[in-house]
Amino acid sequence: MFRTYAARGPGSALHHDLAFGVASAALAGVVFFIDTFTNIEGAIAVLYVIATLLAAQVVSQSGLIACACIFAVLVMISYGYTHFSNYDLQSTTRLFVALAALLVTTVLLIKTERARLSLLSLNAALKESEFRYRSIFDQTRVALWERDYSSLRSYLMELKAAGECNVRNLARADPKFVDECLSRIMVVAVNEAARELLGPQSASVGELRKSILSGHEKFLDLLQVIVDGGRVYEDKVEARSDTDEEKLVLLSVKFPEDPDAFDRVVVSMVDVTQRELALKTLAEAQAELAKASKATAIGAMSASLAHELNQPLGAVLVNAPTLLRWLDRDPPDISAARRSTERIIRDAQRASEIIKNTRGLLSQTAGRLELVRIDDLIDETLALMEHELHRSVTSIVVQIAPSITVPTVRIELQQVLINLITNAIQAMVEGNAEQRMITVTADAHDSAHLRIKVRDSGPGIDAKILKTLFTPFKTTKPTGLGMGLSICKSTLEARGGRLSGYNDDRGGAVFEIELPFGAELADA
Ligand code: ADP
Repeated sequence: MFRTYAARGPGSALHHDLAFGVASAALAGVVFFIDTFTNIEGAIAVLYVIATLLAAQVVSQSGLIACACIFAVLVMISYGYTHFSNYDLQSTTRLFVALAALLVTTVLLIKTERARLSLLSLNAALKESEFRYRSIFDQTRVALWERDYSSLRSYLMELKAAGECNVRNLARADPKFVDECLSRIMVVAVNEAARELLGPQSASVGELRKSILSGHEKFLDLLQVIVDGGRVYEDKVEARSDTDEEKLVLLSVKFPEDPDAFDRVVVSMVDVTQRELALKTLAEAQAELAKASKATAIGAMSASLAHELNQPLGAVLVNAPTLLRWLDRDPPDISAARRSTERIIRDAQRASEIIKNTRGLLSQTAGRLELVRIDDLIDETLALMEHELHRSVTSIVVQIAPSITVPTVRIELQQVLINLITNAIQAMVEGNAEQRMITVTADAHDSAHLRIKVRDSGPGIDAKILKTLFTPFKTTKPTGLGMGLSICKSTLEARGGRLSGYNDDRGGAVFEIELPFGAELADA
């Protein structure tokens, strides 16, 4: 009503408007003429209602009100003209009837138009929402099916009402149960992503095609969700595409709350084949890595053991022939033999301690922390190295602040010192140093740290290795392992300490140990 151009072009709409407009005006003119200038007594003015109805076809709401007002004025003019001096009850009643008819018609027309407009806008909103849903459905990259589960639901609810709520019992009792259920599912719509996932045949509208391979069990789970009034079914299932390609998909079905809406259930599938494959490969790679790092750890530990045992075993090998020589003397020099035996015992004990300590590291148990007097420890260490120092003609200078104690694992710190002193001797021998001298100093670096320095008079650290000094297997020696310094560093760091190495301005290399005074003995 009012302006209706639906299904017509603008030209034909104009003709239509014009026709109604002219008809309305002509009718109003004729009614006015008859009502005013003829003696026909009757409810002729009521015909303005028809003119109003005709005008309503072409004018807007306010236009209609204006027309109705004009027609009302015309009715009153006619009445005034014909009954100016002799008005009677009959004609006055007709006047009011005509005005009332005009008013009622206009009000009804406006109401109808309003109802029509609101219906139209409701329809437009519905269309808009349907369009949005469709475009999301069609354009999303998730494979979507719109399926009709209403027949299946009714069937299952009937069985439930008959007393069976367990779909597995139903499937056991009737071998055709699953097929019956499958045949009751219809595919209403399929989106592009679904067609890409399974192919146009498997993802087609109509009867549900059996592309899910995961057997009846998962389908029975889905049926049970419907029977139990559940809202969501989600599981990983295997699906086969038109090209016989097997895919692992995450199937998800969201059932509506309203049973009437079971004719439009959205089912989605997400291809997780690649993701699962990647996860599997990742897990395999992690297992490989764990194996490899275990092998590396064992390798490093063996290298460390070989390195650390070298010194005490070498000392045993030197002292054992000496012991035999003392015994072979005539008469045997028993006291000298005793000294050699004591040295052998001491070195063998140290070798045993090293093995014990390494085993402790492997089993992640910490060594025993004790309060160690540094002067004693250095004296003991130098006594152990006595033979090496003597053989290499190395003099040793010791400067230790008195009575410094530090909580540490005795054997560990001793091993570090032996390593540093052995390296210093080797550097001075290999570098043909004129005067071989090692200076060991120990003092408090600050209130919190002990500092031990081992300085030699050798050629200093090779510039090539200076930056990677503490990296495992970095060595400049033809028969070196390159493990000593890295072991020393990690041993000290495990106790909260530090190891650094540099070349002294006066020549030679300096290795500096720092250890905290405050390590907790209770941790031992
Ligand atoms: P290795 O003694 O088996 O080579 P280390 O880790 O103990 O392994 O030492 C690594 C390298 O550091 C040595 O090969 C050597 O080049 C250098 N180095 C260590 N101590 C000294 C030192 N006192 N003087 C000069 N170079 C040293």
